[in-house]
Amino acid sequence: MEQKIDFRSDTVTKPTLGMLDAMLSAKVGDDVYGEDETVIALEAKLANIFHMEAGLFCPSGTMTNQIAIKCFTQPMDEVICDQTAHVYRYEGGGIAYNSMASVRLLNGERGILTPELIEPEINADDVHYPKTNLVVLENTVNKGGGKCYHLDQIEATHNLCAIKGLKLHLDGARIFNALVATGDKAAAYGHYFDGISVCLSKGLGAPVGSVLLGSSSMIKQARRIRKVLGGGMRQAGFLAAAGIYALDHHVDRLAEDHLHAKALAHALAQTDYVAQVTPVETNIVLFEVANKFSADEVVRALGRKGILCNATSAKTVRLVTHLDISPAMIDQAIEVIDTLDV
Ligand SMILES: *Cc1c(COP(=O)(O)O)cnc(C)c1O
Repeated sequence: MEQKIDFRSDTVTKPTLGMLDAMLSAKVGDDVYGEDETVIALEAKLANIFHMEAGLFCPSGTMTNQIAIKCFTQPMDEVICDQTAHVYRYEGGGIAYNSMASVRLLNGERGILTPELIEPEINADDVHYPKTNLVVLENTVNKGGGKCYHLDQIEATHNLCAIKGLKLHLDGARIFNALVATGDKAAAYGHYFDGISVCLSKGLGAPVGSVLLGSSSMIKQARRIRKVLGGGMRQAGFLAAAGIYALDHHVDRLAEDHLHAKALAHALAQTDYVAQVTPVETNIVLFEVANKFSADEVVRALGRKGILCNATSAKTVRLVTHLDISPAMIDQAIEVIDTLDV
């Protein structure tokens, strides 16, 4: 059986030997007692990178996002996000369950929100309406095919939120992909956002973990919420060490994933089973299948040739490049794409 090439998600990566080595030699303690120096070092390292005051290591990006939304809202408040947002679509209804807040969904171009889209949706101060209190942006936009915000777009939304007294949270599950693609500086982000969630287990290749960044007082409250959600972890330094290793070794190389994604997109665009490929900006390739095919048929045909990917709707397919995809695998995948008989 030939080796499968797994483009289903950038979450499928396995820790490298260097990462495992760093994990094995981590100094650990009980992090619920605040005694795990490696967790503390990871939180401080990311806070420093993004110029935020403090960080909180959590088991998942769902937890960091949900804690942030809980910190920034009260029951009956309303959250503004794009209709494709992970916080709304893929976190199990967590905004309703955890925060008892309602959601106002906008239709951004590939999931990108602008002040022009947001401003008319901010509710007036009237008892009929839920109180708009929070805007959530996602960078890169997962459902938007890895599309990036540039810093000037974020600044404009930050300015609107500041005037209107709204909090601004970033679901930065793939923020390092955006930073590598745009050349924007991470440090600038701390100025624009009240909260930032960073995933270590996506493109960065760590096995587990996300970090929530915010002000010291916000993170103090976030720590209480993490505890009540059951997310307080004990000798978590073994996992945090993987995160520190990823930040030191796996950020610059994301550019390689982006090149790989562009090469796949180029090959797909030449085939008769693909109608259209969404322009690639980072590590996600989204394409629409040609009229006579379904996404499932194309995914199954690729699967028979050892290429794993996911249908994201009846007519769209997604491929994601990552740390465990080598240049040789890209060559092999392109050969399959070129010659595929759906
Ligand atoms: C993966 C992802 C998350 C977090 O997911 P977890 O699996 O809970 O870590 C959040 N937002 C986006 C856009 C994602 O792609």
